[in-house]
Amino acid sequence: MVLNGKAAIVTGSSRGIGRAIALALAKEGVAVLVNYKSGASAAAEVVEAIQGIGGRAMVYQADVANPAEAEAMVKAAQAEFGKVDILVNNAGITRDNLIFRMKDEDWDSVIGANLKGAFNCIKFAGRGMFRNHFGRIINISSVAGLVGNSGQANYSAAKAGLIGLTRTMAKELGSRNITVNAIAPGLIYTDMTSSLPEDVKKKMLAQVPLKRFGSPDEVAGLVVYLASESAGYITGQTITIDGGMVCI
Ligand code: NAP
Repeated sequence: MVLNGKAAIVTGSSRGIGRAIALALAKEGVAVLVNYKSGASAAAEVVEAIQGIGGRAMVYQADVANPAEAEAMVKAAQAEFGKVDILVNNAGITRDNLIFRMKDEDWDSVIGANLKGAFNCIKFAGRGMFRNHFGRIINISSVAGLVGNSGQANYSAAKAGLIGLTRTMAKELGSRNITVNAIAPGLIYTDMTSSLPEDVKKKMLAQVPLKRFGSPDEVAGLVVYLASESAGYITGQTITIDGGMVCI
């Protein structure tokens, strides 16, 4: 177990990529706070799955876009685990539309969950990491934040914003042995992508050299690596995991 004794918050870990990250960290000996916004039973199932493999986990409902809720979540993790060593900003939503049809609330909610949520969690969890002279912050961005995507002005702006936030946090927090990196997944098979129309999926897959969706477990493996001692000299980076879709 490469991360034995560490404690983590994984935002949006009731489903999909976040769920896989929570389980993968727990398998490496990490105590995990499983956060969700509305799916209480799914989140409880993740905690049970972690406990089922002998791991330690707690469940916590919070909308990460809300600063008071994000702060209370960090305090709850610190009270239960004594510290937060690893923060994975994974919570995210899409509300797609072309720019002329995009409603203000769809812009605000996507920026809120994907970008402000990460800002809030880093602000509150980062303080403890700063005091402890150790931290690993991993922000889940997207290839849409690197190259843009029609119909996703809100989402691609939020995900590009996360990359800027990652680079700046790496500079602000590096002197305290806190690394900050982003992961930019391509097409990963979760609820977020399974609902896309078949013809859209087919078109997207045509752009993937490996000709398949990635799995949440493949993203989770990269998170475990970035959280480990072996990745201690990597910071400020954005690592794509996309089957070769975006080569820049
Ligand atoms: P998903 O299956 O739709 O799950 C999203 C998770 O985020 C759920 O646990 C959800 O909880 C939680 N969440 C949403 N808004 C929240 C909020 N305001 N506060 C707290 N939790 C919130 O998504 P996914 O496909 O696993 O994606 C995970 C991350 O990877 C996202 O940031 C996404 O943008 C990114 N990503 C995904 C793909 C892909 O192909 N799937 C590609 C690139 C990047 P509730 O169910 O309780 O609402």
